[in-house]
Amino acid sequence: MWWSVVNNSSMSARRALSAAAVAALAAGCAELGVVGDGTTVSWGPPNEGVLVDGARLPLEGEGFVVPPRWAARGTQWGADELIDTIAHVGRVVSAAHPGSRLVVGDLSIEGGGKSKHHRSHQTGRDVDLVLFAKTAAGKPIELTEMRRFGADGKTVGGGEPLVFDAERTWTVVRALVEAPGPGVANIFIYAPLRDLVLDHARGSGAPDAIVDLAGQALAQPSDSAPHDDHMHVRIYCSPDDAGCSDYTWRAPPKKPRPIADEEDIAAELAERPRIGSMLHFRARW
Ligand SMILES: [Zn+2]
Repeated sequence: MWWSVVNNSSMSARRALSAAAVAALAAGCAELGVVGDGTTVSWGPPNEGVLVDGARLPLEGEGFVVPPRWAARGTQWGADELIDTIAHVGRVVSAAHPGSRLVVGDLSIEGGGKSKHHRSHQTGRDVDLVLFAKTAAGKPIELTEMRRFGADGKTVGGGEPLVFDAERTWTVVRALVEAPGPGVANIFIYAPLRDLVLDHARGSGAPDAIVDLAGQALAQPSDSAPHDDHMHVRIYCSPDDAGCSDYTWRAPPKKPRPIADEEDIAAELAERPRIGSMLHFRARW
């Protein structure tokens, strides 16, 4: 199976990738395109992969900010396409809602792979976004910590009572759907909040096609937390990253295959079909 080289740990995957790079260079196989192509490379599935030559999101930029909690974790590493997507959404937010900023949580750790806080977020294609909130009086505010929202869109738990801001959230969701690049694969969010966002979208006169695309991306995941305090955004693999998988790996083998030698890995990478292409998914839309 193609992911056999990531079967033990992220470190072994990194070693295998460097081994493959060396083997590819030695064989003069520049077209391999998996490593060292001058851009970031997402490799493997979101929950069992790595990020090679990752790009780092600045802690602050036009229309976005990383609050101290997440800045301290050093989890600002992503694929170029994810960094570009966040920058795009930030620009849209600041144009549509002057003074508002997208509040960004974790992307990936440097190099990707497993991290303390997430099962996915391994290949630089996942980012958590703090939800937008308003005061009870309707004043938009910027959250620097995640707050949980109930099915009625009101915060639950202690702290100042706040209301989910469907308007600014829709700005973000629409910007994600319309962002240039490989496209947004998933926007995980608590189902009642999804409904509030889509209701707002329809009420604001957004084009049906855009609302439909957003509706396909927005979902409450069935196999993890309900995402009632943040949105988890995943973008599709860049078609340039041949070893990137859009599919979550759900059943890792108990006894992984031993790491292959360098020539086997290089041959495997060269033969592996490109499974990350956006074209594959566009066909379903
Ligand atoms: Zn997440």
